[in-house]
Amino acid sequence: MKVNLSILTTILFSLLISNLYAQNERELTEAAELFHKKYFTIDTHNDTALHLNNPERGGSVIKGQVTFPMMREGGLDAALFAIFIGQGPRTDEGHISAKESAEGELVKFLDYAGRQERVRIAHTADDLIKNKVDGYLSVVPALENGYPIGKDLTLIEYFYNLGVRAITLCHNKNNEICDASMDGVSEHGGLSEFGVSVVKEMNRLGIAIDVSHASVETLKDVIEVSSKPVIATHSGVWSIKNHNRNLRDDEIAAIAQRGGLIQIATGRFFLSDKPREQVTVKDIADHIDHAVKIAGIEHVGLGTDFDGGGGVVGLENVSKMKSLTIELMRRGYSEYQLSRFWGENFLDFLRKIQN
Ligand SMILES: [Zn+2]
Repeated sequence: MKVNLSILTTILFSLLISNLYAQNERELTEAAELFHKKYFTIDTHNDTALHLNNPERGGSVIKGQVTFPMMREGGLDAALFAIFIGQGPRTDEGHISAKESAEGELVKFLDYAGRQERVRIAHTADDLIKNKVDGYLSVVPALENGYPIGKDLTLIEYFYNLGVRAITLCHNKNNEICDASMDGVSEHGGLSEFGVSVVKEMNRLGIAIDVSHASVETLKDVIEVSSKPVIATHSGVWSIKNHNRNLRDDEIAAIAQRGGLIQIATGRFFLSDKPREQVTVKDIADHIDHAVKIAGIEHVGLGTDFDGGGGVVGLENVSKMKSLTIELMRRGYSEYQLSRFWGENFLDFLRKIQN
């Protein structure tokens, strides 16, 4: 999607891009500035909603990596803001309380976002494009963990009606829907029977099926059952870093072959074994390079996991997004490739699943 820029700026951009191999830092910065003005950009996962809702609540991860002014500074137009619900007891009471808590946090966050300057909630590709053209940032509501659904299929449409357009099937523990990649126990052997109907219901409604956190068997089942492409909103590459949250090469290929997306996460534990101060934007770019090699540029993007463990040296928060663009430009990514990576892929994906 192109936002009207003067012909002059477009020519300047082309000149800068063609000059990239000069590797001039100032030129790269200018090219990145122009790129982010011109193209739609989205981050498919952050855990910022709970942080904004409950600023007094601490936690083990860095918080405050995403604010709307910082999004503007970083040239990021949109993000999937997930309401994260940690896995609790799988009892009726547990499920009711998870549902109430997810709903409460979602309503509170949407109310907050709705009161911010030049910020709108977006549900479709058209919304996202319109907001970019109008100079508004977009919030796409998501749910991280299907736990609040419990065993009640009707709750998927209930959350859809509240605005949710993506659901991560599970978090680190198995739930009623499926087995999780970080749970040592293979309980359902992938998707449960209920999980199969969850996938079908999400297909029917046009909710993005997020397979990040899913076990290898779950991902296999989802790809088989889903009539629509699926997305891993925040995952790394297993062959670079053997972490159970990361995707094997055949998983990356399978997601891409079905028209889905692999969105590289920026949490350092998913990227590298190196100490914190040595994990940089280059490590993120290494994972992106590998995913692109397997899946093709049309199937790879970014899901920072900011405020949920994401962030490395050079990409500490959302105001620094252009540093990744600059690193990818240095590696020879073209304007077309960057436009696919940063947003066009996701817009196409949304159109496909909501069609
Ligand atoms: Zn996560």
